[in-house]
Amino acid sequence: MITLTLTEIAQATGGTLHDAPDPLVRVTGQSASDSRNVDPGGMFVAVSGARVDGHDFVPQAITAGAVCVLASRPVGVPAVVVPDVTAALGRLAQHVLTRTANAQVVALTGSAGKTTTKDLLAQVLSRHGETVATPGSFNTEIGLPLTVLRASESTRYLILEMGARHQGDIAYLTSLTPPSLGIVLNIGSAHVGEFGSRRAIADAKSELVQALPPVAEGGVAVLNADDDLVAAMAHRTVAAVVTYGTGGSADIRATDIRITAGRATFVLHTPQGSASVALRLLGAHQVHNALAVAAAAHSLGMATAQIAEALSAADPVSAGRLQVLERADGVTIINDAFNANVESMRAGLHSLKSLAQGRRKVAVLGEMKELGDASRAAHAEIGRLVGELGIDVLVTVGTTSEAMALSDAARLSSSPPQIESAADPDGLLPVLHGLLKSGDVVLVKASRSVGLEHFADVLQAD
Ligand code: ATP
Ligand code: MG
Repeated sequence: MITLTLTEIAQATGGTLHDAPDPLVRVTGQSASDSRNVDPGGMFVAVSGARVDGHDFVPQAITAGAVCVLASRPVGVPAVVVPDVTAALGRLAQHVLTRTANAQVVALTGSAGKTTTKDLLAQVLSRHGETVATPGSFNTEIGLPLTVLRASESTRYLILEMGARHQGDIAYLTSLTPPSLGIVLNIGSAHVGEFGSRRAIADAKSELVQALPPVAEGGVAVLNADDDLVAAMAHRTVAAVVTYGTGGSADIRATDIRITAGRATFVLHTPQGSASVALRLLGAHQVHNALAVAAAAHSLGMATAQIAEALSAADPVSAGRLQVLERADGVTIINDAFNANVESMRAGLHSLKSLAQGRRKVAVLGEMKELGDASRAAHAEIGRLVGELGIDVLVTVGTTSEAMALSDAARLSSSPPQIESAADPDGLLPVLHGLLKSGDVVLVKASRSVGLEHFADVLQAD
């Protein structure tokens, strides 16, 4: 990382120093807005949210080793005080970018698979040049600048996940860190409650391709040819367009796709040649994520064989995304509980079916949040899919009408599963205790706020 003095931070952010006897102290460790994630020598970024005020956690951050705080008021310890901490953090990221002359910003967005694809891309590109990527799912106006602070003078690729909850979010993120290569994965129904329609979501995501530089300046838009609204973004960019997909017209293609025990093999085709890929990641949907990575890596000059080899060697990095855990008694747990929307629920259930192959399939499903008016219908759709895929046991978590819609639809499907329910995550373990037996495969999935994120670990240790 590029180490900055308190004076430099004050200059870059337009802030003033308070309680800082030595303005030449340097920030040498990882900075964070969560006091638990600040490394010794790092800076604590005190963000005031709707529920918590970061300024209340300054003592914890100092105990963790923070050498200064970016704050909106003096806090009694060395601080750079600014009127708007989030905006100041953005300006600091812009300043750091001016010091990373070799870094090329690669940005990705989409409704499902950003973090998975980002982790895959980081593993592939790091074979080609020094790579810094968003840790976990840090894709907001706070998380993205914090990622930029990890870059150094020798960083070649800076891979940034960009999330959007409103129109203009991605335009803001790209204004901080102008990407030269942008990837749009898919447009689903995630956050449709806030946006109103899939088309409105597409408008928000297309801010990424609109921010790319023209072909002559090296701009590249990597677009999913198999998603109609993403493919249409080719008309909204002045960058070169590279498409990926399973159809014949895509620039980067997969053929001979086979799924064995939940994992895909395929032949990767680029304009430069073909090579076989055998993914270690679970799920048929990973073919598209891998193609997006291949398209980006190809555009950045990697050879097809090297891309195929790196894809085949890649492991899942971020927990809770189709992570396979084996329990001593022969129960296999698929932890997909980091988050959920309709697309990822479908992907999770298909992965459960494909991995199980003759074993008993148990789906532990909680609510998908933020779906607005479409919510009950979406849960019913998932319930029907549970029946169609021949899932043996459905365990719903929660007492909402959404959970009811899910189990009702499963009950009415052509081959209804055994249906159980738990009122909340605490009630789940006793239900599963009486239910699970050796050889079962259990998918655990829900939106993050349902609180199942760490349940799979508990279940594995049970
Ligand atoms: P968030 O908006 O929460 O940051 P994200 O876009 O980063 O989400 P991931 O965390 O990578 O998405 O993946 C979430 C889940 O979506 C995965 O566990 C998996 O079930 C599913 N998923 C991943 N890739 C795809 C894809 N290409 N299509 C559909 N579902 C996918
Ligand atoms: Mg993410």
